[in-house]
Amino acid sequence: MQEYAVPFHWRKFKERYNLIGSRCTHCGKPFYPKRSICPSCRRAGKMEDAKLSGKGKIFSYTVIRVPPSGFKIYAPYVVAIIELDDGCKLVSQVVDVDPEKVEIGMAVKTCFRKIREDNSSGLILYGFKFKPDIGKMA
Ligand SMILES: [Zn+2]
Repeated sequence: MQEYAVPFHWRKFKERYNLIGSRCTHCGKPFYPKRSICPSCRRAGKMEDAKLSGKGKIFSYTVIRVPPSGFKIYAPYVVAIIELDDGCKLVSQVVDVDPEKVEIGMAVKTCFRKIREDNSSGLILYGFKFKPDIGKMA
């Protein structure tokens, strides 16, 4: 059952199921990935965990045609800066879409997917990616 060990290990973490970032208790700004210090409030603000909506839109993107080792099966693929409805930006791969059809402003939401396969160790890493939010598309 070796092949199930790693995905289970990752899936058991709450943070792998939910998009958990930080929110500053002082100014209310959300961040992802988590931060321990708010860049605006510094010491005045305390960070607490915040579950983010996982919905947003594409702010900017690039199509990767020559990927690094471990990502070759995905090429070409889209990496985008996504502006979440919560108000923060993050970088993620966008899946389930033709790279030619991606556009700035496209509505996207999180999905739980295989991130990378490490052929030498057999590890399969899971985590968040984004896909088009069909319900919000014209
Ligand atoms: Zn703050």
